[in-house]
Amino acid sequence: MIHQFDTIIIGSGGSGLYAALEASQRSKTAVLSKLYPIRSHTGAAQGGISAALGNVEEDRAEWHAFDTVKGGDYLVDQKAAEILAEEAIQAVYDLENRGLPFNRTPEGRIDQRRFGGHTKNFGEAPVRRACYAADRTGHMILQTLYQQCIKNKVAFYDEFQVIDLVKEGNICRGVVAIELATGEIHIFGAKAVLFATGGFGRMFKITSNAYANTGDGPAVCARRGIPLQDMEFFQFHPTGIKGLGILISEAVRGEGGILRNKEGDRFMENYSPTLLDLAPRDIVARSLVTEVRAGRGIRGDGRIDDYVHLDATGIGKETLLAKLPDITGFCQTYLGIDPADTPIPVLPTAHYAMGGIPTDINGQVVADGNGTVVQGLYAVGECACVSVHGANRLGTNSLLDLVVFGRRAGRHIGGYVKDVDAPRLSDADADPAREWLKKLTEGPSEHHGGHITDEMQTLMMEKVGIYRNEQEMEEAESQVQELRQRYRQVRVQDNSSCFNTDLLEIIELGNLLDLSLITAVSARNRKESRGAHSREDYPERDDDAWLKHTLAYLEEDTVRIDYKPVDISLWQPKPRTY
Ligand SMILES: Cc1cc2nc3c(=O)[nH]c(=O)nc-3n(C[C@H](O)[C@H](O)[C@H](O)COP(=O)(O)OP(=O)(O)OC[C@H]3O[C@@H](n4cnc5c(N)ncnc54)[C@H](O)[C@@H]3O)c2cc1C
Repeated sequence: MIHQFDTIIIGSGGSGLYAALEASQRSKTAVLSKLYPIRSHTGAAQGGISAALGNVEEDRAEWHAFDTVKGGDYLVDQKAAEILAEEAIQAVYDLENRGLPFNRTPEGRIDQRRFGGHTKNFGEAPVRRACYAADRTGHMILQTLYQQCIKNKVAFYDEFQVIDLVKEGNICRGVVAIELATGEIHIFGAKAVLFATGGFGRMFKITSNAYANTGDGPAVCARRGIPLQDMEFFQFHPTGIKGLGILISEAVRGEGGILRNKEGDRFMENYSPTLLDLAPRDIVARSLVTEVRAGRGIRGDGRIDDYVHLDATGIGKETLLAKLPDITGFCQTYLGIDPADTPIPVLPTAHYAMGGIPTDINGQVVADGNGTVVQGLYAVGECACVSVHGANRLGTNSLLDLVVFGRRAGRHIGGYVKDVDAPRLSDADADPAREWLKKLTEGPSEHHGGHITDEMQTLMMEKVGIYRNEQEMEEAESQVQELRQRYRQVRVQDNSSCFNTDLLEIIELGNLLDLSLITAVSARNRKESRGAHSREDYPERDDDAWLKHTLAYLEEDTVRIDYKPVDISLWQPKPRTY
């Protein structure tokens, strides 16, 4: 079946819905989502969205932009960070005006709390910058935007999984999707296509990410010749529930929670004397692992799965229930403890992809280091790399990225589609996708997809995790290649066409394998430590050689690396101390 729209948006998280809301004002817009829209991972975001409103203490957009650049270890494009911080203020008020129920100060203003790496006066002390709705900020964003999209008559194709991009030369024409309920192939022709497919934490064994976070957008683009940017930078959040990876929001530390080792010491005093537990995540995650390795974890055996305590007992039961109710519930459900009186056992969990599909400040996808735009192709949110997060994202800056750049991309699309002709797609445009599906479904299976998933996740966790070195990454690269070979022999066992989750998961595994390869190659290539990319064999940041973005092109079984300059037009790189 062939459909025709001006604008197709893939993904109904915060970024996709905001872009849809804007694009639909001036173009016939549809949103495709493999999930029911409000089940997108944005709904799991807990802690908050940052904006220098200055509601509870003095704050400035300039400080916010600087913190973002420094937090990203100077790999951030600085003009993009400036836009993020400046447009944050209006973006948060827009959300408020659209109905988002933020927590309030006693005077009725939007309340704000502390988060890691957000400071006043260029690093002097923590500042209250995160706006929040208890610990359900993302949930509220999704509900608000979804209601507005329905009101604005955006067309929704729920439970449609996009598997291919139709592109002619440098012009994007549409996408190919499977309808989950029927197994039918649909072709969507559009003047503008926007990917908003979210992150890919499912590449790792222990992750805070939902099962659906399999990087479909970046993988589909990579297979169609689009490079992926800065894929070596993957954020590990310091506080996942031990063994499970379920996130305990940084808001717990923002409200006064403290990390302690087995002696009960507040160990962050030794690593970040100014910001302590609210240092950026890469620093806290590494400090935590260092404590564990030194035998100061709670068990004290120095093994990698030892853990530390997040002590929230000082926050008080009343505040926990008022401001962190979901977190309190998670601790009761998954650990059988009440955080008001018992410390929470935590370990880092794979959390956020700083890298992704390269874009300019209007969400337009760029295909090379010179900024050549792919006509009609856009990306926003976690699947994109604009780059405002550089080598390490600050907490609350992702929800902000969704709203600011979702809005910008939606507006740009509204202008773009006026001047271009609608593409004419034919049934043959789905032939490459059909061919691929045929390969996955016909013939006997020699390997099991589930085993490959398991091996890939363990491999990436152990060898391309928080600490990295040449030898392990080389092993990771060749083992991922071997898994990709085995993947080619995997066949779908279930032949039904109605909600065939076997088929969908195998497609997602193919995406994760391609992204794992690109991540491992990009990481091995970067011979320095910066932000979340921490090499034991190259422990220093090396601006002379490596102050540049990586662009990785997937070419069949190899990854070609190229580079793109970083915009440092506002602040010169300095050593990062907190
Ligand atoms: C537990 C948790 C807590 C977090 N807390 C915070 C926080 O407090 N503050 C903050 O700033 N950030 C937070 N983050 C990060 C932030 O929530 C995410 O980066 C952000 O929500 C991603 O939004 P998105 O719009 O890019 O994608 P998502 O919300 O992940 O949505 C992706 C969409 O793409 C669709 N999709 C994917 N693949 C396909 C396909 N092949 N075909 C069709 N549709 C597809 C999905 O159906 C979904 O609708 C948190 C993340 C997690 C995991």
